[in-house]
Amino acid sequence: MTSVVERLRSRNPAVSVEFMPPRDDEDERRLWRAIRELEALDPAFVSVTYGAGGSSRDRTISTTSRVAQETTLTPMAHLTAVNHSVAELRNVIGWYAAIGVRNVLAVRGDPPGDPMGEWIAHPQGLTYAEELVALVRSLGDFCVGVAAFPYGHPRSADLDTDTRHLVSKLRAGADFAIAQLFFHPDDFLRLRDRVAAAGCDTTLLPGVMPLTTPRTLAKTVELSGAELPRELAARLEPLAGDAKAFRAAGIDLVTELCDRLLAEGVPGLHFYTFNRSKATKEVIGRLGLLPAHVR
Ligand SMILES: Cc1cc2nc3c(=O)[nH]c(=O)nc-3n(C[C@H](O)[C@H](O)[C@H](O)COP(=O)(O)OP(=O)(O)OC[C@H]3O[C@@H](n4cnc5c(N)ncnc54)[C@H](O)[C@@H]3O)c2cc1C
Repeated sequence: MTSVVERLRSRNPAVSVEFMPPRDDEDERRLWRAIRELEALDPAFVSVTYGAGGSSRDRTISTTSRVAQETTLTPMAHLTAVNHSVAELRNVIGWYAAIGVRNVLAVRGDPPGDPMGEWIAHPQGLTYAEELVALVRSLGDFCVGVAAFPYGHPRSADLDTDTRHLVSKLRAGADFAIAQLFFHPDDFLRLRDRVAAAGCDTTLLPGVMPLTTPRTLAKTVELSGAELPRELAARLEPLAGDAKAFRAAGIDLVTELCDRLLAEGVPGLHFYTFNRSKATKEVIGRLGLLPAHVR
């Protein structure tokens, strides 16, 4: 199986897409419609997130496995250290290897229920993503990605500390990093500058999400960990009661964001799809990145 970095190298710029494991049968049908729609765009890779526990973890493994076995796509499985002993983590990583998944996004995860609650490591588990990177690396020929935070991780004391930990995680064996959502291209570019200034040249991919509804905007604010900038609020909030106008303005905004990032030479754009394909396809189309056969 091809690695994420090989796929990124073979296209410039690349697009990649992220899905969540389905919660039920209806969700699964919706997810697979989105996967099939986006498969036609030949993304560099598709990733499947890893839930806080229980059956959603099995569904990450089964969805990633189906992507590996039944599609032309390159899958990447997320993995977290939440409530896992090292032995269990080894087991999951072994499963990924057995189903032919060689790309893993190694993230620490948050305490279930309250993301800002106290982090309590499993007694036989890990404390930081850096350790998970090293574990995945030690278990085979994996291509490993990590998370990066344009505004700094919410638990970091300041941006310098955040950068130090990010660079140390990259040096522990990560091949690339994917950034959390952000609002302005400069927010991502400053993260890229901080990492470069620390002497690290690992590939950084911006994470973007089509803003189609007030709900997706609220989700972006929540995930970014930052406040909605005033100029964006001024463009979007007055349209909250007009679904069509909100969607049009949101797609314009994300297209402008991506355009500027591409002009600044990012190697690709990672789309958080929330298991929908239409808006992602629309933005990719407006950026002129659709393969010829689907234009
Ligand atoms: C692209 C992306 C994908 C994600 N996918 C998932 C997913 O599938 N499932 C899920 O549950 N969550 C996911 N998350 C969320 C992620 O798990 C949380 O944001 C989590 O709080 C941080 O994970 P991390 O891997 O960055 O942790 P870490 O890198 O371990 O960092 C956690 C905190 O500890 C600090 N730190 C790191 N190393 C050290 C050290 N050596 N000493 C002291 N402090 C240190 C960091 O600065 C940071 O504040 C994702 C996030 C992103 C951006």
